[in-house]
Amino acid sequence: MVLRVKALESLMVEKGLVDLAALDAIVDLFEHKVGPRNGARVVARAWSDPAYKARLLADATDAVAELGYAGGQGEHMVVVENTAQVHNLVVCTLCSCYPWPVLGLPPVWYKSAPYRSRAVIDPRGIVAEFGTYLPVDIEVRVWDSTAEIRYLVLPERPAGTDGLDEQALAALVTRDGMIGTARL
Ligand code: FE
Repeated sequence: MVLRVKALESLMVEKGLVDLAALDAIVDLFEHKVGPRNGARVVARAWSDPAYKARLLADATDAVAELGYAGGQGEHMVVVENTAQVHNLVVCTLCSCYPWPVLGLPPVWYKSAPYRSRAVIDPRGIVAEFGTYLPVDIEVRVWDSTAEIRYLVLPERPAGTDGLDEQALAALVTRDGMIGTARL
């Protein structure tokens, strides 16, 4: 795969179809600027500001853009809220659709066939394998991402965090918590 990518890149540069500096800028963007920390800021704001949370649940695309996160693979965002009664899990059964502006690039397991099939067949089992045992009486909702709609889980705010500001709250939010393979 590495050789194939290198060969494709060389060919495209040689033919003048892409600019190496532009490729480096794209890699730098997704390695250093776009990642789960963006989603964590969205979650922390929702925990801190009830009006923002209402906007986020009503129109996630607009609310996420308020914090400056928008663009490719995030044009139509939907945020689903975890509660004491409901746990949400996100998958793309067809391929690997994922909300890039708020979570960055998807982890390898998210794109794997076992995760994509088992998230639907046995969501509790999958979440348990990630180390989280969901209570038997909690309802599990699985959301199948598409090329159009990308989902983000709004985790429950952990107990005992009343005094924390948004920055400290954001530090508590994990990528897996926003995919639903973990509960905070
Ligand atoms: Fe997909």
